[in-house]
Amino acid sequence: MWLPLIPKHLRKGILRNFHDSTAAGHLGVAGTYDRVSKRFYWPCLFLSIRWYVMHCRECQRRKSVSLQPTGHLVPIPPSLAPIHRIG
Ligand SMILES: [Zn+2]
Repeated sequence: MWLPLIPKHLRKGILRNFHDSTAAGHLGVAGTYDRVSKRFYWPCLFLSIRWYVMHCRECQRRKSVSLQPTGHLVPIPPSLAPIHRIG
């Protein structure tokens, strides 16, 4: 499939349209990349989309950072005698 090569001065407008518009809904990097890569091409497309999404003010303000949930605490068994185990 042939995709149009987008010149530099049009890329930001495309990213704004496919990420910031009401219909786009501020999808993450993967969603925005999926939409843009089906229609357009330019070198380092994924990196520019990642940079754009990471620097989007709306996403920074509203979306939380997706981290793995913290694990449960595991109790340490009590030592058998003073200075039984060091380290
Ligand atoms: Zn955004």
